[in-house]
Amino acid sequence: MNDLAALTELISGGGVVALTGAGLSTESGIPDYRGADGKRRFAPMTAQELLADREARRRYWARSYVGWPRFASAGPNQGHYAVAALQAAGYLGPIITQNVDGLHQAAGAVDVAELHGSLEQVVCMQCGEHYARGTVDEWLRLANPDFDRSADGPLRPDGDVAIAESLIAGFRLVHCVVCGSDLLKPDVVMFGESVPKTLVEQCFSYVAAARAVLVLGSSLAVMSGYRFVRRAVREGIPVAVITHGWTRATDEEVSVRVDAPLGETLTGVADALTG
Ligand SMILES: [Zn+2]
Repeated sequence: MNDLAALTELISGGGVVALTGAGLSTESGIPDYRGADGKRRFAPMTAQELLADREARRRYWARSYVGWPRFASAGPNQGHYAVAALQAAGYLGPIITQNVDGLHQAAGAVDVAELHGSLEQVVCMQCGEHYARGTVDEWLRLANPDFDRSADGPLRPDGDVAIAESLIAGFRLVHCVVCGSDLLKPDVVMFGESVPKTLVEQCFSYVAAARAVLVLGSSLAVMSGYRFVRRAVREGIPVAVITHGWTRATDEEVSVRVDAPLGETLTGVADALTG
């Protein structure tokens, strides 16, 4: 039996929990931090930098303001739709995602645990108030009426665009309407932060109850995702991986491994099982 047939057979038994990462969204135009070789291509801003330094916040929000229309308009790709179809047909249970783009839900999936949060939300680091990103975007637009938002550099994984220093210098930050602080942060787990403990426990319980774990487009480079694979292996639950390029998971940990473009592969599996 080839790998694709073995993968399809594993999923056909149902009770599968998916663990998804950036590789699932690259076909939607959202780049991955890591190339196919597993090396990090961008140095992400840390939460500590954002909290400590107003100029870092100015840089973050100026770049993010330029990138947001493009990030927000990215739509699900055939991989997201295949995952939603497999879930609707009863093969897949909960989805644990490291992605912050909301594209699983946009494709119709439910029971999505967003390990790293969502760029759709903004949180005040001073008082904890949450805002819809669209609301903050409107505040930023009003505060920066003359700002040229059309810079056309490449979109980066966090939804921002590298822009000229001169543009950043003139960018005006906006403030939390509850406490007046400018300590606004996207409500995502940034580098240097931890996934909330209750969410981790919930995801461990999904894995413990699964018949199999299906890793999609995650290199598993960060422990926030890899620990679920380790838990599955410890409990004797088979792990299948579809990813295009390097992955941290070893052959001892993985029952089935398919190295191929995700959209096409998942559509093939979904068609075979639901068609
Ligand atoms: Zn506040």
